[in-house]
Amino acid sequence: MEFLIVCIIIGYLLYKNNSLKKSLSNLTQKINKLTIEKNNNVTSNQNSTLNQNYKSTEERIESIKKSTYYYKEKDFWDSSLEKEVYFYINNFIKNKSAKVEILPHVSLRELFKPTNDFKNQNLKQLSSYHIDILLLSEKSFVPLVAIEIDGSHHELDDNQRIRDAFKNSLLERNGIQLLRLKPNNCNYAFIESELTKLLATAPIYCPECGRKMIEKSNNKTGEKFLGCSGFLSLDCRHSKSIDYKII
Ligand SMILES: [Zn+2]
Repeated sequence: MEFLIVCIIIGYLLYKNNSLKKSLSNLTQKINKLTIEKNNNVTSNQNSTLNQNYKSTEERIESIKKSTYYYKEKDFWDSSLEKEVYFYINNFIKNKSAKVEILPHVSLRELFKPTNDFKNQNLKQLSSYHIDILLLSEKSFVPLVAIEIDGSHHELDDNQRIRDAFKNSLLERNGIQLLRLKPNNCNYAFIESELTKLLATAPIYCPECGRKMIEKSNNKTGEKFLGCSGFLSLDCRHSKSIDYKII
């Protein structure tokens, strides 16, 4: 009787061991299969991504070729007043031999880079807003004076007021002077007197490197002159007479 019980136990243990071996072998096969499939997928995915990228670039170029027809003629100027003021100021700075460059309709994106902190928030405004007329330093193109021509709706339109507040703050923080022409002061006498004042107090920038010019004196003679502040960092030796004026 005892012998029989021992035989049954041994038989059960042998059966269990066998089924465990089978399960283990099945599991190993499955793992191998999965690994092979995974490797195949990675390779085919890499190939398909490469193909897709190659195709999509070609497709995108074709798509751009087809879609460019939708550009239509658009008036460069926002208003006839903006055009008139631009040409008036252009003549004024030429007649005065002011050492500035003048550009109409300059996107804020051309002037400023968004900081990392506000990158996403400010990117849209920088891309979609512009300065009506911009005066820049001669040759180095550093912005000196922004001129905005406000229509009569500027005071009444809340969205416009928010856009204006954004520009005011941005220009002030970056040391660019602002002249806002409103319906009640947009006349030639006001423009001339304001621009003369603003340009007379604007910083002078080096035409070679765009750094600020600062007052210096000659070590030997003590004579004063304007020297480039990039003298040490950039080895820029540009200098101007102490009497140099933008206007
Ligand atoms: Zn310089």
